[in-house]
Amino acid sequence: MKLWRYAGAQQLHLEQGTKPTPNAGEVVLRVSACGICATDLKTFQRGHPLIPVGAVLGHEIAGVIAEIGADVTGWQVGERVAVAPYLGCGQCYFCQRGHFSLCEKLYAAFLEPGGFAEWVRVPARLVQQGMFRLNANVDDATGTLFEPLACCLHGLRVLDLTPRDSLLIIGDGTMGLLQAELARHIGAKPILVSGVTPHRLARAQRAADAVIDPREKNLVAEVKRLTNDYGADKVLLSVPDARLLDDAMQCVARGGTINLFAGLPSKETLALSAFRVHYDEVRIVGSFGFGPADFRQAVELVNAHALDLAGIVTRTVRFDDLLAAFHAAGERDIKSVVVMNDG
Ligand SMILES: [Zn+2]
Ligand SMILES: [Zn+2]
Repeated sequence: MKLWRYAGAQQLHLEQGTKPTPNAGEVVLRVSACGICATDLKTFQRGHPLIPVGAVLGHEIAGVIAEIGADVTGWQVGERVAVAPYLGCGQCYFCQRGHFSLCEKLYAAFLEPGGFAEWVRVPARLVQQGMFRLNANVDDATGTLFEPLACCLHGLRVLDLTPRDSLLIIGDGTMGLLQAELARHIGAKPILVSGVTPHRLARAQRAADAVIDPREKNLVAEVKRLTNDYGADKVLLSVPDARLLDDAMQCVARGGTINLFAGLPSKETLALSAFRVHYDEVRIVGSFGFGPADFRQAVELVNAHALDLAGIVTRTVRFDDLLAAFHAAGERDIKSVVVMNDG
């Protein structure tokens, strides 16, 4: 089978690999589509501390069951599914406390070899708890959005977003746009999105009550104006830039919460107002990845068409053109998805 192997920064090689076969409890999927994630792009552009050279990238997949191992019941060859790329083990110290994305064995059961391959082997743990049927009216490209949606749901859960809350999302990337859609579903109001990319802000407007380009308007003043001077009850920092925490701190309401959602470099340190944390009871939290319940909920929402996801996937590319897609990825698109050559 064909696969794309990550060979170091700026290098992806199209290679022949061995088609996986399922062990007991496992299935093998024919990949239909795989999303290109910010993590994949980051890895390609400048390497990633957790992703070794030689890996096959891609973890946002939709596929068709091609082979079923022994002891797997309830599934049939030919069914269209989406699958979580990893799940907490449920047994370790952190899983026992509900911190599934902090699982000590988080990557022990991962899609093999990775999503940018024609076939993938799905480990037993993921077959049991992380594989879900795609409704017939959900297309393959949309089916790749479960993982980013699950991460966003986890982020909103950590933030404890409720219909009473006003929300500021700093960032108009894929995650910021998905968070706006989810926040709308939850009923938060107003939903404000700040960003600097006009076509992404235009897309954000479908879910947000207002969008703000901080180069054109003073972000803090706008957020205050749109929240009766209180500031935003909840703030998502969905751009990997710690300097924006300062904006978040100025925009958050008393008693509010800021979630450092976007990944920040390991050496990054933060300067924040101790006054606001103490006297205004502002909380700073973080969220990473997702747990089983988040992924399941993402599937339910998409299968039920409860979210407006039109216009999130802005580009589909053929499998053979993956390298060109990585080179071309940038501001012009929102989300690119690789679809298999035979459609
Ligand atoms: Zn992803
Ligand atoms: Zn665990």
